[in-house]
Amino acid sequence: MRAELLKNPVFAMAATQFDQVADFLELNDEIRERCKWPKRLITVTVPVRHDDGSTRVYFGHRVQHHLTRGPVKGGLRFHPEVDLGEVAALAMWMNWKCALMDLPFGGGKGGLNCDPRLLSVGEKERITRRFTMEMIPFIGESIDVMAPDMGTDEQTMAWMLDTYSTHAGHLVPGIVTGKPVNLQGSAGRTRATGHGVAFLAGRALSKLDIPVRSASAVVQGFGNVGTFAAETLAAGGTRISGISDVTGAFWNDKGIPVDKAIEHVRRTGGLQGFPEADPIDPDELLVQECDVLIPAATGGVIHGGNAARLKCRVLAEAANGPTTPEADEVLRQRDEIFVIPDVLCNAGGVIVSYFEWVQNLQRFRWTEREVITRLETQLEGAFNRVLHFAGRHQLSHRTAAQAIAVHTVGDVKAQRGLFP
Ligand code: GLU
Repeated sequence: MRAELLKNPVFAMAATQFDQVADFLELNDEIRERCKWPKRLITVTVPVRHDDGSTRVYFGHRVQHHLTRGPVKGGLRFHPEVDLGEVAALAMWMNWKCALMDLPFGGGKGGLNCDPRLLSVGEKERITRRFTMEMIPFIGESIDVMAPDMGTDEQTMAWMLDTYSTHAGHLVPGIVTGKPVNLQGSAGRTRATGHGVAFLAGRALSKLDIPVRSASAVVQGFGNVGTFAAETLAAGGTRISGISDVTGAFWNDKGIPVDKAIEHVRRTGGLQGFPEADPIDPDELLVQECDVLIPAATGGVIHGGNAARLKCRVLAEAANGPTTPEADEVLRQRDEIFVIPDVLCNAGGVIVSYFEWVQNLQRFRWTEREVITRLETQLEGAFNRVLHFAGRHQLSHRTAAQAIAVHTVGDVKAQRGLFP
């Protein structure tokens, strides 16, 4: 299984990062092995009747990296290229994210190899419900709590909640987070990840003495995270000079009206044909001059081929795993670029998921103001911890963030001991 997982380039990347951190922490072999490998790798087949009467079998995965510090927490993605190794890597990163933020969770991730853009609403609902049924032996409010990720949203979570609750015979609100607000979702959850990215970008800019109001930003990826990051930055006075999604990339030196871009996507389904900016090559977008570059789409977009050409001052990693180890090597030499690593940068989502879960367990509701204030306090604390640790040990921000997290998890494993 080890060799099989390592064959996947994304898992190999997460494992390489872990090995570097474990070397720095001088973890003993026992703790190193127990921290590195996932506790449970679950794969199920999900047979689904399509609208045309045909039946297709999808493969669904859920990787529970560990349950040492509490239930497993992490998103479920629908994407045609999902595979077990990639899901395991994403679960490992969720693990470090939860530990860095001091949330009482282990990391998990799920994925189904379907293309949500090609499915009708009914097909998506049947896939979601059948996958949830197949997962029932392995999930629960105290075992594994899923949330939206790429290709899934609050409607997906509502179907999951309904399927699980129907099976249980009563409403179980804490079975998923990122639910619709009137179905016991949390105020502020939808915008939480993007808001957190913008908030931390602002903190990084202030460390570099760049006023947020005179800064410019490029946002690659215009889904839930990218739109809210762009909107929040623009509201603070930052000029959004470039944006992109799978349908096209656009540039406007004077600043893109983000509200109009959001409206265009709502009306047409993508950025293609957006009239308020000029088309630009998507690869070139990443290497344009800007203060903040926000990769907010898939992994691996900052690589050995473009890392040396980046012209940003802050790299805010809104996506999971956007920077390859080769690119990291280049960025290590370029200390003029301030990297906010993914496990810190995009943690706003899981932080507010934690708030949602706590509200569900207590049958209590917080206001959006309370949620956002607590979110910013938590992010600010982690940001300062990472900077302090990196400065003290002369580490990159990524290694520092992961080292704090791995140290936390390793300590708890040692304290609990090895059963039997
Ligand atoms: N999918 C999000 C992430 O990668 C959120 C996970 C959650 O809220 O549990 O962090």
